[in-house]
Amino acid sequence: MSYEQQRKNLVDNLKREGYIRSERVKDAFLRIPREDFLPLQQRPYAYADTPLQIGHGQTISAPHMVAIMCEALVLHEGQNVLEIGTGSGYHAAIIAVAIGDTSHVHTIERFAHLANVAETNLQKASITNVTVHIGDGSKGLPSFQPYDRIYVTAAAPAIPPPLIEELKEDGILLVPVGNVYCDLIRIDKHQGKTQSTSLGGCMFVPLVGEFGF
Ligand code: SAH
Repeated sequence: MSYEQQRKNLVDNLKREGYIRSERVKDAFLRIPREDFLPLQQRPYAYADTPLQIGHGQTISAPHMVAIMCEALVLHEGQNVLEIGTGSGYHAAIIAVAIGDTSHVHTIERFAHLANVAETNLQKASITNVTVHIGDGSKGLPSFQPYDRIYVTAAAPAIPPPLIEELKEDGILLVPVGNVYCDLIRIDKHQGKTQSTSLGGCMFVPLVGEFGF
């Protein structure tokens, strides 16, 4: 079966299972070829709904987890988004397409090699509204704050305080909190106060750095 057909089948499954709920997220999943964000030997498994190795002991998240996070972020045109943990660049590409060209995604990765590969992957997918940064994203990315949306794709010991500071009023922050087995926590910021909701269990590689493990 062609990659395109496998991609359509995956999207149908993610919709049926209730992970993809919006047209915006569905269209982004159909537009971005997950195989192009994987090392060669992993490409045959691109449309299995599982995490896959991308090198440096890191993984690209399972498509259903990308979908859960995208829908929980309530994406709109014109948003300024920060991703902590670029990895392959796939999740950033999905968000970038979902929010459109009037919006921007800043993504930060601690491994320079992964950041460089992600940049190449994003170029290949003709994505022009993502900037890849290298550094410790547990401290946030102050230069481009405030952000409408912030999401972390690695498991943190607790919510990193700089991320709350860099979140706009009425913004949404998503952080998996725990040691590998974690709770996906959504933080809403209203009138300077934060409200925290658990969206359920998940598994992520650890966030390292100043506010990581
Ligand atoms: N979103 C990615 C998956 C990321 S896996 C994708 O779509 O492929 C988590 C990533 O977080 C890894 O690449 C890891 O190196 C990175 N990471 C962990 N701690 C970090 C930190 N403090 N700052 C930036 N990146 C970090």
